[in-house]
This record gives sequence, C-alpha cells and structure tokens, in this order.
Amino acid sequence: MYIREKKAGVRVSSPASAAFGDHYDVIVIGLGTAGSMAAITAARRGLKVLGIERLNSMGGTGTIGGVVGYYYGNRGGIFEEIDSQVISYQKQEDFVRFQGVHGEIKNWVLDSNAVQAGVEIRYESFVIGVYLDGTSVKGVRWVSPEGIHDTSAKVVIDCTGNAEVAELAGVAFDMGRELDGKCQPFSNVLMKSYPNGSVGNFYTDSGYIDIDDPDSVNQAIFESNLLGTHLQECYNEESVVLKVCPLLGLRETRRIVGEDQVTFGDVLADHLTREPIFFGFSNLDNHGKDMAFESDNQQDWLVAASLFGPNMNVPIPKGTLIPKGYDGILVAGRCLSVDHDIASAIRQKRDMQKSGEAAASMAYLSIHQNVQLKKVPYGLLRAMLEESKCLRAVERTEIREITPQEDHEQAPIPATKWLTDTQAIREALNTDKPGIAIWSAKRLGEPIAYALEEWMNQQEHPLLRKNSALALGLMGRTKCVPVLREIVYARDLYLPRTSRKYNQPHLFAAIYLLGRLKDTEIMPELLRFIREDTFMETLETDSSNDEFIYDRKELYFQFFSFSMMAAFRIAEAHPEWRQQLAEVMGSRLADPGLELIITLKTHIREANGFLKKKMNARVESIYNRLISNWS
Ligand SMILES: Cc1cc2nc3c(=O)[nH]c(=O)nc-3n(C[C@H](O)[C@H](O)[C@H](O)COP(=O)(O)OP(=O)(O)OC[C@H]3O[C@@H](n4cnc5c(N)ncnc54)[C@H](O)[C@@H]3O)c2cc1C
Repeated sequence: MYIREKKAGVRVSSPASAAFGDHYDVIVIGLGTAGSMAAITAARRGLKVLGIERLNSMGGTGTIGGVVGYYYGNRGGIFEEIDSQVISYQKQEDFVRFQGVHGEIKNWVLDSNAVQAGVEIRYESFVIGVYLDGTSVKGVRWVSPEGIHDTSAKVVIDCTGNAEVAELAGVAFDMGRELDGKCQPFSNVLMKSYPNGSVGNFYTDSGYIDIDDPDSVNQAIFESNLLGTHLQECYNEESVVLKVCPLLGLRETRRIVGEDQVTFGDVLADHLTREPIFFGFSNLDNHGKDMAFESDNQQDWLVAASLFGPNMNVPIPKGTLIPKGYDGILVAGRCLSVDHDIASAIRQKRDMQKSGEAAASMAYLSIHQNVQLKKVPYGLLRAMLEESKCLRAVERTEIREITPQEDHEQAPIPATKWLTDTQAIREALNTDKPGIAIWSAKRLGEPIAYALEEWMNQQEHPLLRKNSALALGLMGRTKCVPVLREIVYARDLYLPRTSRKYNQPHLFAAIYLLGRLKDTEIMPELLRFIREDTFMETLETDSSNDEFIYDRKELYFQFFSFSMMAAFRIAEAHPEWRQQLAEVMGSRLADPGLELIITLKTHIREANGFLKKKMNARVESIYNRLISNWS
C-alpha cells in the first residue's frame, strides 16, 4: 500500500502501512449538492458512513453557495423528500419569504436527516492524502481541527465537485474546452432582500478562474468581491445586500476520465447508454460569450442551428462515476465523466443530487455483493434507483423546448420530434424558427440535399434560401457557399427566434460554416473584419438579443473571433494564406487601440452591460497556440 499526497503543490507517493485509526464502509468527501445525498442514502442503506466537508454545513452550491433555484434537471429521488421537508418549514410564518429552496433551512434539514440516518459528519475538515493498493483506493488521510487522521473505507465517494480526491489519487481528468482549456465563467453569488419582503439570490457571471492556480482563485475572489454588483458606495434600498455567499459558484471544473464517458457528440449521434442510472435534463447552458472558440459540435448546434433553447434528456451510465482503471472510488456531482460540451447541460442541481444518490447505491451494492464497482449488477442497481424514483421507468432520451419554470413531465408541449417529411422541413425553414428543421435536414443528409439546393435558389423566399444554405453548410456541401458569402458580404445580422435567448445572427453562422468549408474567397472579407472595425458604424443591431450581444464592442468581438477562427481553418487547408493571416493578426494584436471586450451575463436585464471583460490576452494566447502549429 502507498499514500499519495500533495506537498507544497507537488504530488508525492510514499509507501504506507495499514495503520488506520478508524474504518468505514463509505467515506463521502464534500457534503454539497451531490455529497449530502450520497451520505444520507448510504447511511439509510445501513452502511457505516463518514462525511468530510471543508465548510461548516451541507448542501454546497445549492445552500451555502446561494444557488437556491432549480433550473431544469429531472424530478424524483430522495432529494425530493428532503426538499419537501424544507418547503414545509419554509411555509411557516416564522421564516421570511424565500425565492427558491431556503438555503439555511435546507442546511438544517440535511443535517438532521444525515444525523438521523447515522452519518458521522466532520465539518471544517478536508482530505490531504489517499491510500491505494495498486489502483484500488483503501482510505484517506484527512485533517480536522483535532489534527491528522488516517481512515479506511471500502468505498470513497469524491463529491468535492472539483474531483479533489480523485485527482490526489492520480485519476486522469480533463478541464475546460479543447482549444484553450477554459471553463465556463464562475459567479460570486449574493443573497439580497427584495422590496416585497422576500429573500433571494443575485448573481452575475463574475469572470473566469483557473482552479489549479491558487493565485487565480484568490484574485478571482478579490476581484469579484470588488465588482460594482457587490461593493458599492451607496446601496439601493429596494434590494438590500444580506451577504456574499462563502462558496464561490463554479460552473465547471475538473471532469474525470471514467470507465464510461458521455459526450455531446454521442448525444447528437444517438449513441447513448441503455443502462442509465439517472437522466440529466437541460439545454447546453453555456455561459460563455466566446462561442467561436468552442468545439465544432457545440458550434454546429448553437451557432449554425441556433439551438440554445431545446433541452436534452440524457441517460447517464454508471461508468461515468467510476474513475477509469480504479476501484474503491467513485465521483458524483459536476466532475462526472462527460465532455466539456455536455457538461454545460449535465450539471443542474436536481441531476447532481441524483448522481450522489446513485453513487451511494453503487457503493452499497459493491460492498454487499462483494464485487468491484464496475461489476455492480445493473439490474439490482436499477431496481434500487427506480424504487426511490431517482430513475423512472418512463424516462427516455428526448429533446424538449420548455421554459425553466415548466415541469417537463407535466408540460403541455410534447417532446420535439425530428422532422422527416420534406414538405414539413421546407415549411419550417421558411420561418424565423428554423433550428429544428435545420438540424432535421442535417440528420437526413443526402436524401434531402437536392431539395435544399433547390430551395436555396428561391430568391423570393429569403428565409428559406438562407436557412437551406445553413443546413447544407452543416452537411458539408459546398453548393451553399455563394449564399453563405452573400450573408457575410451583407453583414446580415438577422436573428432567428429558435431559442428563448442567445440566438445567433446569420452572419456568424455563415462565417463559421465558410471556415468549415475552407472557402478561400471569403478570406479578404474575414481579414477586413480582423483588421479594422470602422464598418461597424453603419450596422443595425437587434437589441432583443442583448443578453448575448450587449453592445457594439461585444458585437465586434464576435466579428473578430468568428473571423479569426474561420480564417485559421481556411489557412490550415490552404497554406498560401498563412503568411497574410499571420501578418494581419500580428499587427492587429499589437494595435493598442484593439479592444476585444465581452459583457458578462447578468441574469437581470436592467443590470445588463454592467460587467465587461477584456479578452485581448485570451485571444492572443489562442492565436499563439494556433500559429505555433504551422512553425
Ligand atoms: C453560479 C451558478 C448558478 C447555477 N444555477 C443553477 C440553477 O439555477 N439551477 C440548477 O439546478 N443548477 C444551477 N447551477 C448548477 C449547480 O448548482 C451545480 O452544478 C451543482 O450544485 C454542483 O454540485 P456538486 O455536488 O458537484 O458541487 P457542490 O454543491 O459545490 O458541492 C461540493 C462540496 O464539496 C466541498 N468541498 C470541496 N472541496 C473539498 C475538499 N477538498 N474537502 C472537503 N470538502 C470539499 C464544498 O465545500 C462543497 O460543499 C448553478 C451553478 C453555479 C455555479
């Protein structure tokens, strides 16, 4: 046996004897959204459970972190029972009216359920080492106010959100998107009291953070506390700040490499498990404004088809909780084995609570059947999860367009069906809500290509013409290039209404697709967009999309970033363009007048445009990375 620890930032392994002070069936580390459910479920199953949490209460991001509302996710599971206990207290007049699930009450309800079930809780404690035998986790070294402890467990469940324990154990992980490793923005959440006497949260996207870099974490905390949303000379008495939540709102951090992985590509290709342990339900809730730097799959869906709105119901297999090649350790929460794209959908609180419950059920079966975690019999696991409704027999993979407030099981709107009828696709492409039709055409492929080409030539139907070109572009067919170029030359900022918000103007969809199609004729226009921004003065914009593109500066950032990425794709295939692109980019990035600025998302329309983020350094580092491939 050996122990892996981190000393002054460096991971070290050393031989260790099995001198454990205490023994548990399960140790849950991080008693947040997922971990609280994991600990309670495991203890209710009769297991001896230790819960280690670095803060002083349970519930994590959903309680002490102030993220008290639900956004999509699926119903069912033991979290519903916990929430109904919270709500029955919340209805009593002794408590202020609360928007969402009352964080403090949920702390107490979780505490009392955990204690009642027999969980031994250790707050203000955290893990500093992991004991392993080969790649089988045997226990943890952890520190509490009493000092250092060495404790064994049959199964360790890492619910730290950041996969802290798995990382310590040497588990492989990914972080951020492929191009530059950047995660979604974080939020520094406030609690406020509102004029109607209720209490609720308030948050904006506060910036970006690298959790592997302590300086970045500290700087993010300082800077976001000093934002105009937080520290003000004079506060508006309409909404009084009560507190800054002590747990930073991290949307995305490490994602483990598991025995199984769910990717957005799998979702698009219908390659999904038949052995789900729960379903995740959300849209691709990507808070990023620099969409041009996201993956092709994400841009196909969000940019070319403008499908920010539709929600996916995604089956999650048990292998996403098991670190690849390891035994004795599971993860639950936002660090599941999913790719960056689908991580923006598989992170909502209901689903993360389910992941904790599922992890505890897997641990229980592994211990009672005396089998490795990856050998846990699916039939038994499914029966346990169906019993608590964590997994429902009625659930299936589907797409639905509903508002965050609607319960999709009760929703009057049926699940979206991909269109297969040519006439139905034509009709939908001729509207301002073409997204599903564009994607349906892409799915059909070859059989509809000739019809799309014909519709693309119907000048009298401009929407049909342009949407058909976008569909053909997604299918990789170059016949659409002249129409896509037309969209670019016209600086056509037409906005489809496919999604609730975050709709993508035709122009950026066309630039993206022309890059994918390696169209050299569009290069001079792309270089013009990169070189200068005076053309912006005459552009007409649509303010209904201001959550995504708030002002002209942000609009120019979109011109610049989409053009840069398309130009790189084209020059990748056509080396004769590389030198000119490098010259234009080099001199533009050196231009002190270049302002590449985004507006962070605020969730509150009146506060829109408040927080700006300069993107020059990020763009420059992406440029340097791309150009280095050619040297
Ligand atoms: C700003 C923001 C807004 C969101 N809005 C919504 C929304 O409206 N609706 C919705 O459904 N979802 C929302 N989400 C998503 C959802 O809240 C999170 O994805 C989910 O809560 C994550 O759960 P988790 O269990 O992975 O992590 P957490 O709930 O953060 O739990 C991790 C726990 O581990 C503890 N911990 C961490 N490291 C250690 C360590 N080394 N040792 C011991 N303990 C440790 C932490 O203190 C914490 O208690 C939002 C997320 C953010 C950040």
